[in-house]
Amino acid sequence: MKIGVLTSGGDAPGMNAAIRAVVRQADALGHETWGIHRGYQGLLEGDMAPLPSRACANILQRGGTILQTARCPEFHDPIFRAKAAANLKDTGIEAIVVIGGDGSFRAAEVLQREHGVACAGIPGTIDNDLAGTERTLGFDTALNTAVEAIDRIRDTASSHGRLFLIEVMGRSSGMLAVHTALACGAEAVLYPESPEDSYEGLVSQLNASWLRGKRSSIVVVAEGDTAGRAMAVGERLKRDHPLDLRVVVLGHVQRGGSPSAMDRIWGSRWGAEAVRRLDRGESGFYLGEVAGALVAQPISRVLEPQPVPPGDLGRLVTTLAR
Ligand code: ADP
Repeated sequence: MKIGVLTSGGDAPGMNAAIRAVVRQADALGHETWGIHRGYQGLLEGDMAPLPSRACANILQRGGTILQTARCPEFHDPIFRAKAAANLKDTGIEAIVVIGGDGSFRAAEVLQREHGVACAGIPGTIDNDLAGTERTLGFDTALNTAVEAIDRIRDTASSHGRLFLIEVMGRSSGMLAVHTALACGAEAVLYPESPEDSYEGLVSQLNASWLRGKRSSIVVVAEGDTAGRAMAVGERLKRDHPLDLRVVVLGHVQRGGSPSAMDRIWGSRWGAEAVRRLDRGESGFYLGEVAGALVAQPISRVLEPQPVPPGDLGRLVTTLAR
């Protein structure tokens, strides 16, 4: 069998580990792997080539994706999806492994439904916002990157007695923000799904800390709809709080870097498992981790609402910041 593999949507550390495992497990089972470049854009353009085992040497520890990734708006149009399916057929590729986030899985779901393309999904997104899995590739690495950066900022925050607003990634998901805030001992966290009226709550909390004698603070802000949201919050906060304030947007630094051991391990496990299942004739699934175990979900589950950060974690950030 010829198996295609692509990475799509935002890149995430650990994608290369998954690519390597797909290729080498396929090789071990007597299948051939083709690399599809730049996600669904490459699929549309027929930009794909055989990806042998040797081409995957020394990629396990590298961030980003050797196949590159892209966003491809045309894929929302059935005419272009038909073209993509025809490209697969012409090349003789019978199944594809899609490494990406919920958008990439939606595309795989519709491709399988409309054209019978056998699809397998591997969760790859630093946001960790997929239904049916407690882990996605890249989240652990991005979390550790953000924590390391904020530890450094805390040194200067306490030396100068400053308040730092630190923006982390997460347009529609506060997973990264909440976990980063907890791991850094932040004063507070603002994130999209936050149940409270977060700005007013933040001001009263910071003012109460000030009165208790706290002279430096870290507040983690999820980027929300537009990157730079922390800037807007900072401008407002300057008028409502006495501490000298600085804003840091961590930005794309969170996407890069060598994947953590856990992202390499799960990339390897998921990559191999995806191929083993395709080899057994299964399709239309994506893999995940639930309570430490490797699990498979029907790809249609990606249409379910995305998980929200547990509210108790956000509250714990506040409780522990005394
Ligand atoms: P992620 O996979 O990280 O969530 P996106 O949401 O940007 O990233 O999705 C990646 C790509 O998947 C999009 O650029 C588009 O090509 C395709 N895609 C996303 N959603 C759909 C959909 N509902 N139908 C068809 N294709 C989609």
